[in-house]
Amino acid sequence: MDLNFTPAEQAFREEVRAFLKSDLPADIASKIKGGRRLTRDDHVRWMTALSKRGWLGVNWPVEHGGTGWSPVQRHIFEEECAAAGGPRILAFGVSMVAPVIMKFGTEEQKAHYLPRILDLTDWWCQGYSEPGAGSDLASLKTRAVRDGDHYVVNGQKTWTTLGQHADWIFCLVRTDAQAAKPQEGISFLLIDMKTPGITVRPIILLEGEHEVNEVFFDDVRVPVANRVGEENKGWTCAKYLLTHERTNIAGVGLSKEALRHLKTIARDQLKNGRPLIEDPIFRARMAQLEIDLMALEMTNLRVLADVQAGGAPGAESSILKIKGTEVRQAITDLARRALGPYALPFQSEALDGGFNGEPIGPDYAAPVAAHYFNMRKLSIFGGSNEIQKNVIAKASLGL
Ligand SMILES: Cc1cc2nc3c(=O)[nH]c(=O)nc-3n(C[C@H](O)[C@H](O)[C@H](O)COP(=O)(O)OP(=O)(O)OC[C@H]3O[C@@H](n4cnc5c(N)ncnc54)[C@H](O)[C@@H]3O)c2cc1C
Repeated sequence: MDLNFTPAEQAFREEVRAFLKSDLPADIASKIKGGRRLTRDDHVRWMTALSKRGWLGVNWPVEHGGTGWSPVQRHIFEEECAAAGGPRILAFGVSMVAPVIMKFGTEEQKAHYLPRILDLTDWWCQGYSEPGAGSDLASLKTRAVRDGDHYVVNGQKTWTTLGQHADWIFCLVRTDAQAAKPQEGISFLLIDMKTPGITVRPIILLEGEHEVNEVFFDDVRVPVANRVGEENKGWTCAKYLLTHERTNIAGVGLSKEALRHLKTIARDQLKNGRPLIEDPIFRARMAQLEIDLMALEMTNLRVLADVQAGGAPGAESSILKIKGTEVRQAITDLARRALGPYALPFQSEALDGGFNGEPIGPDYAAPVAAHYFNMRKLSIFGGSNEIQKNVIAKASLGL
């Protein structure tokens, strides 16, 4: 196993850096670096720039208009984007539904949906979770009953990230309530969000942001042609999608950037008249985090080297998810502590780009608490950390 980057990979890193310098809009990078809100338009502008360069389909094969990049190239790209302040590519279209359509879709579905994901015509959201069906996803209850060449869908999805912007939702629905096992009666449907009978209601998170939604289906008619894969075989699509959802799960680049920012705060904040970064206790906490992050990076590179050589990550993905999310959460916790009382006020308007009011405390203070609260989600979504521990216990420890 060789953990060093090859000359070709280093040249690729330079190419990514040059692109980011020329094509990443400065106002978007400044929002990311300053922890400010991104608008729908910001996401679309950045993904359009990537699309024009042929770099939006990061995990797609070349035949479908993707980059054909290796896992290591994808890692380098993510790392450089995080360092430059490039937003993460929204996963729902590019990294979630697209691989399912490529693998299980008909030729018509591929020809219709894939180009529209690449040129940003369609914004997708994910309709998996329901009240009462999260970790135990197979217990989902949203029903789709066949009526001629349509399904009639009734039920509710929840936690639908950015569903308020979405043109389409991919949904797991129950098409056979009598199946012997709950996994056997599920189908995978693509649903136009403009279809009559769909209602989207916001859920406001702890930090006051509208990021997730509830989506209600009330006699929603969906053409049978919008089903991906066979009827009642949607669980296969669902599992395949989750393996793609878990790519770059360690978020090493993002944590490195967050740690850099934490050091800037600790240099600026004072404790007993001295920079906080010189305080032995705070310094030890930061050092521990940096050590954890370095260890995580090495594990991540080991897994990447294995995947590059043709291996498939198993429980390693779970290890990366747990450790990666713990490190990111711990960094936001330390940033909040570094600010002390300046982390207490909630000044929502200061999170908008272009805010020119009076900040409470230093300019970098406004988003710190909000970010801390928002990052609690990391250990819940994409398979909660407790569930990942179950996976490790079973697959690696044989328990
Ligand atoms: C911010 C955010 C965005 C999200 N976005 C989306 C989205 O876009 N689309 C979508 O479909 N879903 C989304 N989700 C939902 C997410 O996938 C679920 O929240 C997650 O699967 C957990 O399900 P749950 O919330 O129902 O919790 P539950 O499954 O009810 O779990 C509650 C607690 O019990 C623990 N637990 C459950 N089962 C076990 C077990 N067997 N062993 C040990 N511990 C267990 C869990 O770890 C958790 O701590 C999002 C969630 C959040 C928080």
